Amino acid sequence: MTNLNWRGLVLASFLLTATTGADAQTNVQDTWDLSALYPSDAAWSESAKTIESLITPVEKCKGQWGKSPKAMAACFEVYYTAQKAVARLSNYADQKVSANGEDPKSQAMKGQAGKLWASFGEASSSMNSEINAIPVKKFKSFTDDKALKPYRMVLENIVRLRDHTLSAEENQILAYSAELAGGSREVFHALTTLNLPFPTVTFKNGEKVQMTAPAFGKYRQSKDLEDREKAFQAFFGTYKNFRETYAANFNSMVSRDAFYRKANKYSSDVEAALSATNVPVNVYSRMIEQVKAYRPLLWRYLKLKQKVLGLKELKYSDLYLPLTEDAPPQYSYAQAQGIARETLKPLGQEYVDILERSIKERWIDVYPAKGKVGGAYMDGSAYDVHPYMLMNYNNDYESVSTYLHEFGHAAHSFYSNKTQPYQYADYPIFAAEVASTFNESLLHHHLMGVNKDPKFQLFILGQILENFRTTVFRQAFFADFEWKVHEISQKGNTLTADLLDKTYFELLKEYYGDAEGVVKIDPLYAVEWAYIPHFYNRFYVFQYTTSFIASNALAEKVLAEGPKARDAYISMLKAGGSLYPLDLLKQGGIDMSGTEPYKISFAAMEKALTEAEKLVAAKK
Ligand SMILES: [Zn+2]
Repeated sequence: MTNLNWRGLVLASFLLTATTGADAQTNVQDTWDLSALYPSDAAWSESAKTIESLITPVEKCKGQWGKSPKAMAACFEVYYTAQKAVARLSNYADQKVSANGEDPKSQAMKGQAGKLWASFGEASSSMNSEINAIPVKKFKSFTDDKALKPYRMVLENIVRLRDHTLSAEENQILAYSAELAGGSREVFHALTTLNLPFPTVTFKNGEKVQMTAPAFGKYRQSKDLEDREKAFQAFFGTYKNFRETYAANFNSMVSRDAFYRKANKYSSDVEAALSATNVPVNVYSRMIEQVKAYRPLLWRYLKLKQKVLGLKELKYSDLYLPLTEDAPPQYSYAQAQGIARETLKPLGQEYVDILERSIKERWIDVYPAKGKVGGAYMDGSAYDVHPYMLMNYNNDYESVSTYLHEFGHAAHSFYSNKTQPYQYADYPIFAAEVASTFNESLLHHHLMGVNKDPKFQLFILGQILENFRTTVFRQAFFADFEWKVHEISQKGNTLTADLLDKTYFELLKEYYGDAEGVVKIDPLYAVEWAYIPHFYNRFYVFQYTTSFIASNALAEKVLAEGPKARDAYISMLKAGGSLYPLDLLKQGGIDMSGTEPYKISFAAMEKALTEAEKLVAAKK
């Protein structure tokens, strides 16, 4: 999962629950070294005091941005200098709070950094509108000017949206609406996390459990069929009781999107959402078309699961069970480092050297600790330093996979920061999750190659196939639903609970092969749309699928074709944000508007599936 803060990439996969376990014996080698940012808190405070002197020149650019190419270039210079400095200060405070949220001093530093961001934002608030106010004819003299050459894409990116940009006055009105715009998301979270009366269910062994979201996450994997079904019924039954409230809120969120679509003169909500990052709509539609075409592979996998579980019929509540009940492998952190070294070899010595540096220079905070945030993330926002990574290493397979994932982000930031000027170092989300999941794909290949134990092989194949189920098919299904309901709304319909249920239910049956006799969909699950928080982050989830497909295809290519494909891939990492998303991936070796990445990725899925089927057959 990802999370992009305003400037400076933080790529995170947070767990539902905060860390509780503390590791009393953490070795200093397994903690990060923040002294590369600032030698001490006192040095940080000293640096923070000088920021004002960097922000004042940005403030002085108000009214200067459109004056002349030379003035604009000078403004860009002070703008990025100040931004870079604030990002570094902020980075230090962020890591300190993540490592120990209970430390009031770190909290205060984070608060101070937040204020610096706000004053930087205020100082540069007129930049876009001033640039947009330059008449079209005059603009060419800016983009052609030598002084602005380093900022050409920044400029182009602003004008690219010119047809959709409003006058200063209209923009002001839109800005007033910003606070209203988040209302539906807040209602969703308040209702879901604070008010929803999840019932307590009694399981077969007499255990009584309140079926909240974390409990549901656990008990949907219960080995007992009736217990699982009970968990599903209790959980979604609660949503069903509140479906009218959720629907009214959902409808208001889609109405908000319609408001911005109309105000900014877009023809559809999906186009409005994708234009911000310049991802063509046909990438989105291609993804849905392709994933739908490959549904028979999902169905074959689900049939295999049904066989392994020995079930007469497969229900939606059975999908979360793992393919194998054998105990998953365990790995120490030292073993994980060794695995990473071997796994990443196909990317060449240069890439592996970055891994060695990350270990030697202590980029990573490894183990859970008291007050430490849960989950894992990479923060690459300290442009002149190096990326930092946070994990909660837990000696399981998931930890190894997370390590490789987050290191993929770290290497991406490292390459990009080293190669690109500051203004192009930040890369788009569309490419970010390619760099991370690429490494997960290499990990599967590596582990399959070194341990031929059938139980272990089936475990890894299960991981691969579950990734396809959850990241490809499930997310594509969400993306499809999101698009459909926005279209339904654009045609003038109110999204009522009945309409949302009906649309969701029909799609569920389509994706999970109800008519084909694969999964029996209980009508209760039609209300699942009410439970998915991602819908409040409009047209975002499709990138989980596209990134996964892209990274799988790229990994297959690098492994099959060797150095030439590898160099193309590394050049994509180095390109950072200097190209638009689709062009970045083309540079890496694949065209996400075409069908090739899907063909390669699904061929890999089919191979994994065939092997898993053989292993299961041999087990019986
Ligand atoms: Zn990630």
